[in-house]
Amino acid sequence: MAAPVGGLEAEEGGGAGRRASAVEVSAPSDPAAPAPRCPHGPTLLFVKVSQGKEEPRKFYACSACRDRKDCNFFQWEDEKLSEARLAAREAYNQRHQPPLSRAQCIERYLSFVQLPLTQRKFCQSCQQLLLPADWREHSEHQLLSDISITQLRKPSQLLYPLENKKTHAQFLFADRSCRFLAGLLATLGFRRVLCVGTPRLHEQIRLTAAGDRSNTKSLLLDIDFRYSQFYLEDSFCHYNMFNHHFFDGKAALEVCRAFLQEEEGEGVIMVTDPPFGGLVEPLAITFKKLIAMWKEGQSQEDSHKELPIFWIFPYFFESRICQFFPSFHMLDYQVDYDNHTLYKHGKTGRKQSPVRIFTNIPPDRITLPIEEGYRFCSLCQRYVSLENQHCVHCNSCTSKDGRKWSHCFLCRKCVKPSWIHCSTCNRCALPDHSCAGPKDGCFICGALDHKRSNCPNIGIAKRPNKAVRKQKQRKSNKIKAEPLKDNP
Ligand code: SAH
Ligand code: ZN
Ligand code: ZN
Ligand code: ZN
Ligand code: ZN
Repeated sequence: MAAPVGGLEAEEGGGAGRRASAVEVSAPSDPAAPAPRCPHGPTLLFVKVSQGKEEPRKFYACSACRDRKDCNFFQWEDEKLSEARLAAREAYNQRHQPPLSRAQCIERYLSFVQLPLTQRKFCQSCQQLLLPADWREHSEHQLLSDISITQLRKPSQLLYPLENKKTHAQFLFADRSCRFLAGLLATLGFRRVLCVGTPRLHEQIRLTAAGDRSNTKSLLLDIDFRYSQFYLEDSFCHYNMFNHHFFDGKAALEVCRAFLQEEEGEGVIMVTDPPFGGLVEPLAITFKKLIAMWKEGQSQEDSHKELPIFWIFPYFFESRICQFFPSFHMLDYQVDYDNHTLYKHGKTGRKQSPVRIFTNIPPDRITLPIEEGYRFCSLCQRYVSLENQHCVHCNSCTSKDGRKWSHCFLCRKCVKPSWIHCSTCNRCALPDHSCAGPKDGCFICGALDHKRSNCPNIGIAKRPNKAVRKQKQRKSNKIKAEPLKDNP
């Protein structure tokens, strides 16, 4: 039942050594015991595993924040808290909710759009739309003026991405990938898209729908509260995807339910792009809850159907995702990001994005753009990368990373081009690997001189200079804790 934390999962098939210790999600000793709550909803139970051995004492920690700086909740599983401490915690959780209710945000938004253009200001320092009554408080701040309706429809361009890797890890789709996704959803005939952690896709779908007056609808579920300034109740819910927690309670949950169950559940798809450092298991549990919610709305004869899903995640999570969703397969399409230098399609180099789409939609229904370097394999009946060659021994196009893989007859499978067969380990690995068992190297690339968090191959956004980054980080932490602090 235990699932390793982020990095360890990423290691699968990567040829990296095993880390000596890791923190994993664990099943509660008493399944009936409700998990204590932090400001981000029910916490998760973790266990520290050292050299394959579980430490006996489990603890609860925040489901959403993998950085103690963002949420420092900690409680041993067997710890008993006094009434006073429980009350203090409850008060703390209350204090750390957004200062504005969903209804207040909507009221502000409606007032904002009524303002003449010259009075529509956005505070970049506070990441907040301002009403005239707020101006004085923000007079010393960085303000943007003349916020047009077009700008309001593109909040992901107005807000800066929350790049603090361990919590939000907000990596926005490059325009090309975003258009591809929106186009694909339309081609596949979906009329409703549940966007879980995909604010930019949400935006794109709504822009397109407004443009051609189609009525494709989109509902965004995201933990980034800043988005609640831009959307009405029916198109945004403040949500934690690691514990299926709706911050605005039952009313928000009902919005989501109604969205999934409309037209008896026909025509809807869920698209999600969770933070990669996140745990696969809690995400899978959440998605199964959303699937169950969709299923409730089905008439009996449809009970064999599955909710169509696009789960966007790095290719090295394939076996982990398929463990929870056996009907999913990975598409070759490489998803590109804006604020992720190394994920962009290089014009020349081979810096490719490791991010793919996992889906339960049959691959022969999904056309990948030929002009972007994909071709149709008639044997596999699916689109693959140009470099991904059909292996006659495996009878499939085996490459996972977009490079040409080669078949190893000893391993009886295709392996990365840089690997050679090691007779000591009895498997293929990098030529300079060490055969000596557990290593504390990087989970992504296996190198010993850095950890996963510093790996040049993942998770590193554009960093102009350290000072700017630090400043941004401070800001984003502040926003997270008290999103609209400067409000009256
Ligand atoms: N590529 C997507 C954004 C993916 S980044 C796009 O361009 O639309 C991950 C997204 O998940 C961010 O929007 C972030 O705010 C959100 N997120 C991070 N942690 C979350 C959580 N615990 N629950 C819900 N959303 C979360
Ligand atoms: Zn301000
Ligand atoms: Zn093939
Ligand atoms: Zn081999
Ligand atoms: Zn070896």
